[in-house]
Amino acid sequence: MIIYLDGRFVPEEEARVSVFDHGLLYGDGVFEGIRAYNGKIFRLDEHLARLYDSAKAIDLAIPLTKAEMAEVIKETLRQNSLRDAYIRPIVTRGKGDLGLDPLKCAKPTVIVIAVTWGAMYGDLYDNGLRAICVSVRRTPPESMPPNVKSLNYLNNILAKIEANYRGVDEAIFFDTKGHVSEGSGDNIFVVKDGVIITPPTLNNLRGITRMVVLEIAASMGITVLERDLGYFDLYTADEVFVTGTAAEVAPIREIDGRVIGNGKPGPITRQLMAAFRTATQKDGTP
Ligand code: PLP
Repeated sequence: MIIYLDGRFVPEEEARVSVFDHGLLYGDGVFEGIRAYNGKIFRLDEHLARLYDSAKAIDLAIPLTKAEMAEVIKETLRQNSLRDAYIRPIVTRGKGDLGLDPLKCAKPTVIVIAVTWGAMYGDLYDNGLRAICVSVRRTPPESMPPNVKSLNYLNNILAKIEANYRGVDEAIFFDTKGHVSEGSGDNIFVVKDGVIITPPTLNNLRGITRMVVLEIAASMGITVLERDLGYFDLYTADEVFVTGTAAEVAPIREIDGRVIGNGKPGPITRQLMAAFRTATQKDGTP
């Protein structure tokens, strides 16, 4: 595997970062998750915009222009002969000392990894995922805004651990005010009486798949609402699904032991899954 690291394409074994890198010491950095389908990069501009916004929000200057970053991403795919891939650009504060002051970090570290990637949830796209509402809360927007795709994913990992211990596939976060936030690595939607409802994006990541699904739903003439959701809305939904670059559109069939709808992926979810698949094959930056 060939990795981009600070201006060079190197074999994985040579892609080494200092133990004094603040990405490692403090989770001080940002990242993206991007997919390529059939040689084309899906929604590249939107992912680059979010990467640079995430960096700006934490006062981190990425030492490449967006156009240069786009070229690096394309070249990483070429170097690895990948057409269907998951791409992971990472920018850390760089090498500093053991103190947390970013002023000690002279130069950000820039990494791009690309790997082959298939359907993340296998046959669960046909059968639906089982999920629980976890006790750990998504970071409140008053502190580290969840809109920043930062290297601090510990809450998400704790949520995943909770789901693992309960033997289910996915974790659903609430925020500190008792509203549904999102999944451990994806956004959440419910369908009730033919209307799609998803939480606003103050307390979760502004998912690009979420945005694409909202566009698709609107083009199908389905009513979409962005409003706060609680336990009641989850437990009484006709359908629930999550969206993310890695997960794509994935149906949820059970939450905290309650069966959602008839326990099978619902008709609107299935329509959106199909339309999203079509979009991933059609759109994209060559
Ligand atoms: N929420 C979190 C916490 C995520 O990590 C992700 C993945 O990037 C998403 C939501 C979904 O965002 P996107 O659709 O842009 O991948």
